Amino acid sequence: MRSGGRVKVPHDLISFLKDEDYFLIATHINPDGDALGSALALAQALESSGKTVIVYDRDPVPEYYRFLPGQQNIIHSFRDIQSSSMNLVLLDCNSPDRTGMGDVRFKASCVIDHHETENNFGQIKWVEPHAAATGMLIFYLLRASGVEITREVALNLYTAIVVDTGAFRYSNTSAEVLRVSADLVEAGASPAFVSNSLYEMWSDRRFSLLIMALSTLEIRESVAFINVTSRMFQETETGPEDTENFPSFPRMMQRINVSVFLRQIDSIKWKVSLRSKGDINVAGVAMLFEGGGHKNAAGCTIKGDLKTAKETLFEAIAQIINRDS
Ligand code: AMP
Ligand code: MN
Ligand code: MN
Repeated sequence: MRSGGRVKVPHDLISFLKDEDYFLIATHINPDGDALGSALALAQALESSGKTVIVYDRDPVPEYYRFLPGQQNIIHSFRDIQSSSMNLVLLDCNSPDRTGMGDVRFKASCVIDHHETENNFGQIKWVEPHAAATGMLIFYLLRASGVEITREVALNLYTAIVVDTGAFRYSNTSAEVLRVSADLVEAGASPAFVSNSLYEMWSDRRFSLLIMALSTLEIRESVAFINVTSRMFQETETGPEDTENFPSFPRMMQRINVSVFLRQIDSIKWKVSLRSKGDINVAGVAMLFEGGGHKNAAGCTIKGDLKTAKETLFEAIAQIINRDS
């Protein structure tokens, strides 16, 4: 990435997208706004250039992302898909493992991502850990390819950027992020519509789950833990997609440096989301458990009962805090 946040889009990526005709865009499981917005925007841009494009995500689109144009066309299984004649575009992650698609063959594959923890996958790789969102990279790619940013594309990309910058609050919110966002607003994205759709449309059930999760708060030194159990999901009739943003709440407390959110997967398995402040690199913690992510937001899974899982995580986090702060 050049200074001022401007990036150079790889020529081989532009040629690849120009020369090929059939694409399958895949993104990570439990998709967030960056994954969905980036995938849909790229699909719409490629389709406008006459390409055939399928967007795949293993998991359903969370209710609060159903305002994204094109989301209804996302597929969740590979049934009836002739993948061997399609080109894979992996977005907002850099390993097929993160998509949960299993062992699927493609004609060729490329990666567009902004995660620090890299993988060796893809004939063409464009990974910019300094980019605030994959949506920023898609914006640069479309601009470099001379593709028109329609209102739909703008809405998808603007949402991608809003979600990955915590609505322009995180340290990745640069002047460049705001400039690109301003361009997207000019192209038709409405900030009020996006904030309303994302942050003021929660179901009562989701709010009840948040209350339950917050009531599990446990603080050790500057590390906060909250969790959601399978039982809480049952009681509130909610699912994993309803927990997006839960990991960030404990970080609101001044004395908290790292917030840990544990979501139960089964009797002995927990999905862990880590959020940190400043220089404390939780991607390093996640990598110890075969996960990954960004400096201030990372994820992994851990096995064991809740108490042991918290203990193990606390020990790893305490070391990182001592090292980084
Ligand atoms: P989450 O805690 O799932 O919201 O994830 C926080 C950030 O870390 C997101 O950018 C994820 O894409 C990334 N992340 C989560 N889990 C993993 C993983 N197992 N491997 C690599 N990156 C991950
Ligand atoms: Mn993501
Ligand atoms: Mn992202």
